[in-house]
Amino acid sequence: MTTSYRGRIAPTPTGYLHLGHARTFWIAMERAREFGGKLIYRDEDIDPDRCKPEFAEGAIEDIQWFGCHWDEGPDVGGPAGPYRQSERMPLFLDAWQQLKDAGFIYPCDKSRKDVAWATQAPHDDEKNNEAIYPEHLRPPIGTGKTATEPGASNWRFRVPSDRKIEFDDGCLGPCAFNCLRDFGDFLIWRKDGQPAYELAVVVDDAAMAITEVVRGEDLLISTARQLLIYEALGLQAPQFYHTPLLCDTSGRRLAKRHRSLSLRELRESGKTPEDLRNSEDWWSGLED
Ligand code: GLU
Repeated sequence: MTTSYRGRIAPTPTGYLHLGHARTFWIAMERAREFGGKLIYRDEDIDPDRCKPEFAEGAIEDIQWFGCHWDEGPDVGGPAGPYRQSERMPLFLDAWQQLKDAGFIYPCDKSRKDVAWATQAPHDDEKNNEAIYPEHLRPPIGTGKTATEPGASNWRFRVPSDRKIEFDDGCLGPCAFNCLRDFGDFLIWRKDGQPAYELAVVVDDAAMAITEVVRGEDLLISTARQLLIYEALGLQAPQFYHTPLLCDTSGRRLAKRHRSLSLRELRESGKTPEDLRNSEDWWSGLED
């Protein structure tokens, strides 16, 4: 990688950050330093019901306390702002339009329940693997092409059949996912008027000229989906580096529900960032 390396950390402010986030962000920062590049902080606050300003402010404070620093972000400014996804809606709408005009996406009136019913898959699993959207629930090709705005409808990406998405992950090595077997038609736009995660992240990573995405391994399948979006939008995809997830003592991956492992509570209990980084738990399981 060259000196034009640009990485990013991109928390979603739906709760306080935990040690797993800190480790991923630390690795992102180390890689940006190693390659003599820049680190961008992006607040992924597009979900107005679940994201709260107190968590957005808390994330910046906690991550800085932990020792992570960045070169561009809501608090530092820089050429590629704004850094809050909620302020970047025109970019997402442009991408929606482009995908819609080219026939990659369709409006979808089926609920998660309809999908679960059709596939007999009751719930999405712990690893965020959604039930595969059944092909027979798709509307005919061309549906939605004349729409002028997303409206109060979900929009899905029509995943091609017979495609294998392959990429070489900087941490995990070669990865491969089969379209319609490992993942199906996925959300691009949500009926509440917001872009779905997969679209927003691709549009922003491309607009911010990110060269390597460092994030948790729970988003591996998302990477396969996102590579399809890069291709459909004619954008250059970045490199990917997926970090192993921290698990609690019962083997469940850390989530915002593990309050005792939030950076905030760890700090309040008297831990220092050095304690946390020097502890063996940093790389293995943790007491909850
Ligand atoms: N905002 C996402 C999260 O907090 C991560 C997005 C990404 O790194 O692609 O889970």
